[in-house]
Amino acid sequence: MKDHLVRILTDKGNVRALACATTGLALEGARRHGTLPTASAALGRALTAGGLLGALLKTGQRVALKFEGNGPLRKIVVEAESTGAVHGYVAVPEVNMIRPDGKLDVAGALGKAGLLTVTKDLRMREPYTSTVQLVSSEIAEDVAYYLTESEQIPSAVGLGVFVDAEGIPASAGGFLVQALPQADPELLDLLMERIAALPPLSRLFLDGATPEDLLARLFEGIPYRTLEKRELAFVCSCSREKIDRVLISLGGEELADIIEREDSVAVTCEFCREVYTYSKEQVEELRRHALS
Ligand SMILES: [Zn+2]
Repeated sequence: MKDHLVRILTDKGNVRALACATTGLALEGARRHGTLPTASAALGRALTAGGLLGALLKTGQRVALKFEGNGPLRKIVVEAESTGAVHGYVAVPEVNMIRPDGKLDVAGALGKAGLLTVTKDLRMREPYTSTVQLVSSEIAEDVAYYLTESEQIPSAVGLGVFVDAEGIPASAGGFLVQALPQADPELLDLLMERIAALPPLSRLFLDGATPEDLLARLFEGIPYRTLEKRELAFVCSCSREKIDRVLISLGGEELADIIEREDSVAVTCEFCREVYTYSKEQVEELRRHALS
């Protein structure tokens, strides 16, 4: 199943919901960053959250989620665009922590104390930034808390990544249910009950459920219409031109130093691990730009 997201709206009762399948995102994140199982799960959940929040943006807008905790993983950063392009990384990919019950300990890896910072580039003059405390460090609850407290939209979020015995994500997906203004409280109670009764999402998607199936299950007997289906993919926004600009911004003196010391320079994009290499001559050319 290709990664995709479905967005629906109830005919009555003012509830919107999104569900997505993100196995490809989780897999590509793990592959690019060489994550160990717990870090794979944490990154996969965060990438899925990025896909969900990205789907609420208008054309050309971007959102970034930064989870910073006091655990060994230290930081997870994810960026998503309105197009369905999502990319991200964990500060320390070599983290594997298992709970006593045998489950991957994402909360322990990220750390119980920390912050979630959400930055939205809405193409206005200043990006909108908001920071909340981590409430569970399991990612889903933290994103729900941010949406409910900071954006004032009561929200429920579920995220699941199933990591196989080799440490490779075998399935991933998630959902977001939001109460719009004047949402029907009885409908919300019913949805909360159904969400609480769901099996673990990682298992649900591993068993072959699609985002459409998940929404049909949550909204059984509640008329709704599908507003949108879109593809999601791990796509980075880095390019040689962007890296050129970063190097030029170091300034002529710094670049002259590099030319003196190094035969070539390799710059790695932290979001996707793409490596951009520059020969001495290419750095010299950038130095001329920096001076002009
Ligand atoms: Zn990149």
